[in-house]
Amino acid sequence: MSTNDAITQEMRKVARELLETKAVGKVIGWGVGSKWHPTQPLIISDPADAEKLVWDDFAIAGTATYLLNERDHEHKIAIFVKGCDSRGVNRLIQDYQIERERLVIIGIPCSGKKDPRMVQQQRGKQGDIPLDKKCQECRYHNPVVYDQLLGEPVDITPRDDRMQEIIDIENLTPDEKYKIFTEAFSKCIRCFACRNACPACNCRDCIFDHTRPQWVDKSNELADNQMYHLIRAIHMIGRCVECGECERVCPQDVPLMLINKKLIKDVNQLFGPYDAGVDLEARPPLVYYKTEDPEEFH
Ligand code: SF4
Ligand code: SF4
Ligand code: SF4
Repeated sequence: MSTNDAITQEMRKVARELLETKAVGKVIGWGVGSKWHPTQPLIISDPADAEKLVWDDFAIAGTATYLLNERDHEHKIAIFVKGCDSRGVNRLIQDYQIERERLVIIGIPCSGKKDPRMVQQQRGKQGDIPLDKKCQECRYHNPVVYDQLLGEPVDITPRDDRMQEIIDIENLTPDEKYKIFTEAFSKCIRCFACRNACPACNCRDCIFDHTRPQWVDKSNELADNQMYHLIRAIHMIGRCVECGECERVCPQDVPLMLINKKLIKDVNQLFGPYDAGVDLEARPPLVYYKTEDPEEFH
């Protein structure tokens, strides 16, 4: 039996037991999609549906964001998490969106997931499909928080060049930088998939859903796209858990991680090393302030 199949069996067993004993009311994991790819998020409440859970090379979708649908209920929830998902869960706990006591977190070490978008390009030859970009740059393959771990921790040395493309852009002239971001944001159709997939975008009341005042128009003007991404970027400072989900789900291939990584790089430079969503006790920069903090913009 392959490692994936063994973990799938374990997932089903754990989920079935938790639902049968009513230790939890729901389980969030992954299930097979309409084809052999892509594996999709799956939320179950019936123990019989535990058989639909699956862990395979395409179980890349983030699970943390689905906890937002549960914040107004009282039942406990079991959630399967990879490293990236576990940082998203911590983000939600730290933002008071869900209580840690309501969660049974089941971690699964992850050596990388394949990019489902490459399937068609590779004409379905599964062995040739590369890892998704976010997995190539992953630094937390093992979950950072869990109650139970399925499988053995993986030991993968992270790449040390993930900020190189940011450094390259920093070295460009303002006009060259503007061109890059203008081209990127011109492609955006403002579908809000990036916002909806993001565990750090967890406000109940999002300003982009309002028309009074209307911060961005419904039309696809570049200026409105720029405003949308600028506002979202400001809200992500010190809070982005670098899960890569926003960029992965974007139907227009907008390189959103360029913005997120720039914010992360600057926060690290200005406030010291900080990885959002890794340590629940670590206080996020820009969330707390002292009255004697410098206010250079005055
Ligand atoms: S980012 Fe890391 S933890 Fe998340 S799916 Fe990719 S390799 Fe796994
Ligand atoms: S997912 Fe892509 S196209 Fe949709 S709003 Fe975000 S950047 Fe724009
Ligand atoms: S901005 Fe993107 S990378 Fe950052 S937490 Fe949100 S979805 Fe993840």
